[in-house]
Amino acid sequence: MDKTIIAIDIGGTTAKIGLINNQGYIIEKWEVHSDISNNGENIIDNIWNSILEKLSDMEINQDELLGIGIGAPGFVDNQSGLVYEAVNLGWRMFPLKEKLREKTRLPIFVENDANLAALGENWLGAGENAENLIAVTLGTGVGSGVIANGEILNGFNGTAGEIGHVTVDPQGYLCNCGRNGCLDTIASATGIVRAVEAYIEEHPDARLAEWQRRKQVMEAKDVFDMAKKGDEASHRIIERALGLLGLALAHSASVINPSRILIGGGLSKAGDYLLAIVNDYLKKYALPRIVDTCEVKLAKLGNDAGIIGAAYIVLHKTGEFGQL
Ligand SMILES: [Zn+2]
Repeated sequence: MDKTIIAIDIGGTTAKIGLINNQGYIIEKWEVHSDISNNGENIIDNIWNSILEKLSDMEINQDELLGIGIGAPGFVDNQSGLVYEAVNLGWRMFPLKEKLREKTRLPIFVENDANLAALGENWLGAGENAENLIAVTLGTGVGSGVIANGEILNGFNGTAGEIGHVTVDPQGYLCNCGRNGCLDTIASATGIVRAVEAYIEEHPDARLAEWQRRKQVMEAKDVFDMAKKGDEASHRIIERALGLLGLALAHSASVINPSRILIGGGLSKAGDYLLAIVNDYLKKYALPRIVDTCEVKLAKLGNDAGIIGAAYIVLHKTGEFGQL
């Protein structure tokens, strides 16, 4: 009989929740607002109440459930289920697994959210079950997950594969981790907008400056649009950001020799234009033996990657995969 998995992907503004079967089919999905007041103490109660309501609406009994896969931002110990720190949620040394354990007897598996996105993409998205893969998500920050020899890399204390915090500009901007010039501060929507603002300050007559005056707000998407239309300054700003992404990916690829690198998140909507730049810089910085056998692709699952990955870890750990 098909069993159902509860898949949860907690983010700074909402938690995405899915009921997913053992073939990865999403039966139902919805979102719950992340209440970050009171150091995020209500988040788990809100999520759990909403799940109970949904299960009752859909007449699903607890014995039809296989387990819970849950992803959280920040540094996560997947054994103890402790979230060391998730700045966006106000969590510090937050015992995520224990909090859920108080509510249910179902098996619970906890992971970092970017790791889940990597596992989800590798299972049912653009990874196609690669044994060695790097997945990055370019949004307001840079998230990443690394799969080596078929397993997600967690490392000694859950901090492996944090490509967003690789230093690419030692004199660069301050990162939310407290250090300067992390990739996160450059190859993200935030980083690109900041680079544009700095450029406009120095070049008030540039086309970018004119665009900003007209639009009031400048978003990373605008910069990509301008670059695609041939604006040289926009292209240079993007090339620097993606070139440094290529540098960090080349270093990471030199360690694990992946067959696929996947790029997702809002910025990946720039499509082939973005892939071409990343590929150029990968070629420049990594050994031909590594680059020639590594395909750089756009991620496919969008916002569902996290919950699909959450279902995957439950199936992977319990061995209850259905026939695809
Ligand atoms: Zn950092």
